[in-house]
Amino acid sequence: MQKTVIIIGAGPAGLMAAEGVRAAGHQVQVYDAQASACRKFLLAGIGGMNITHSEAYPEFIQRYYDKADWLGTAIRQFDAGALREWIHDLGIETFIGTSGRVFPKEMKAAPLLRYWLKRLRESGVEFYMRHKMVSLEKNQVEFDCNGEKVIAKADAIVLAMGGASWPKLGSDGAWQAILQNNGVMVEPLQSANCGFYSEWSEHLQTKFAGSPLKSVAFSFALGDGKIVSKQGECIVTKDGMEGSSIYAFSKYIRDDINACGHGVITIDLLPLQTEEQLIKKLQNIKPKESFSKYLKRTLGISGVKTALLYETYDKDQYQTPATLARCLKSLSVSFYKTKPIEEVISSAGGVCESAVNEKLMLNAMPSVFCAGEMLDWEAPTGGYLLTACFATGHLAGQGVNDWLASRLA
Ligand SMILES: Cc1cc2nc3c(=O)[nH]c(=O)nc-3n(C[C@H](O)[C@H](O)[C@H](O)COP(=O)(O)OP(=O)(O)OC[C@H]3O[C@@H](n4cnc5c(N)ncnc54)[C@H](O)[C@@H]3O)c2cc1C
Repeated sequence: MQKTVIIIGAGPAGLMAAEGVRAAGHQVQVYDAQASACRKFLLAGIGGMNITHSEAYPEFIQRYYDKADWLGTAIRQFDAGALREWIHDLGIETFIGTSGRVFPKEMKAAPLLRYWLKRLRESGVEFYMRHKMVSLEKNQVEFDCNGEKVIAKADAIVLAMGGASWPKLGSDGAWQAILQNNGVMVEPLQSANCGFYSEWSEHLQTKFAGSPLKSVAFSFALGDGKIVSKQGECIVTKDGMEGSSIYAFSKYIRDDINACGHGVITIDLLPLQTEEQLIKKLQNIKPKESFSKYLKRTLGISGVKTALLYETYDKDQYQTPATLARCLKSLSVSFYKTKPIEEVISSAGGVCESAVNEKLMLNAMPSVFCAGEMLDWEAPTGGYLLTACFATGHLAGQGVNDWLASRLA
């Protein structure tokens, strides 16, 4: 018996749910606030769409931090391999990059999206664009469509309205208040995969804003004493740091800022050389040579790296080759705030794990399911974000089908 299912949010999670529900024979209506589908997905495809990762499942699932078990329910059923097969089925080839990241052959999202939307439309999925959900009550949704009020009713609803980064692409997090009003527990959305603010001196701001900091290693001390480290690079901005290596630590830094007002990352400016090797080179002292020339001649350090040394330590802390070598290998940079959520790659927070059942149906609103970035999980870049969006969309679609079947039985 055909039932009507509304999907709100035409991003990857919503469209995945739409596909699964339509395949079970139900009537599917997809609504979105924007004029076209998957705006953020298309943006993600501009710099090279990293759709998933090829690492083994045990490592892969740990990328979701403390939500690994929860997301495992969705990702085990639609993992990186299943996602790649699904992409191949759309006629798009994929390849594994040197880092293990998986990309569509053309690196873009647009061709994949074009084929996918065509397939969805041909299967009978209906699209209602420029419809912004403004309220939700049981199985009834109110939309604002160009200033007009539109009411839609359904037997089941999937909410896939994304997080709150890049709100001009449609996901603005306005759904948080609507769900809270319906008794749904929501963890406030926060910046993830983001840069941070630091308090630089006037000198660093004026001379080195925008400088790349290359071939360094970052490390972060976790609360349990474990150290996480990663070699890479970042950009020193006028008020902090940005870049993929910083994003990789953003959950840890942000959690510390939330807990105690600041998060500290340690930078090794010369990760390929041991402290002993540096000490040996630094012993080659020439009288009357300036300190910056001495650093450049002995270790090849200059520019922003030297500026960061001055920024972090007082001169009397690195008077000998031994103390200088130690300082160069352990610059502590303290951050006090994340970059605004509007500018970052993704968001943390969202509908709480305890607010949904194992098939992602809201406990407070039976017949309403959630999927994608609006659920309370986060992950680093590397294709983990999209994989979880596809997988939770897939699971929510299954959840809808099972729930509707149980109502008919
Ligand atoms: C610059 C950038 C690069 C990225 N690169 C990658 C990458 O390479 N790999 C990766 O894995 N991830 C990447 N991401 C993250 C990834 O794009 C997102 O995690 C993913 O798109 C989230 O999917 P979603 O379906 O949950 O939500 P979204 O894609 O955000 O879609 C949600 C949809 O809901 C609609 N909506 C929101 N509120 C309402 C409302 N009230 N009424 C109606 N409709 C509404 C929005 O218009 C939107 O279309 C990137 C993100 C950014 C910003």
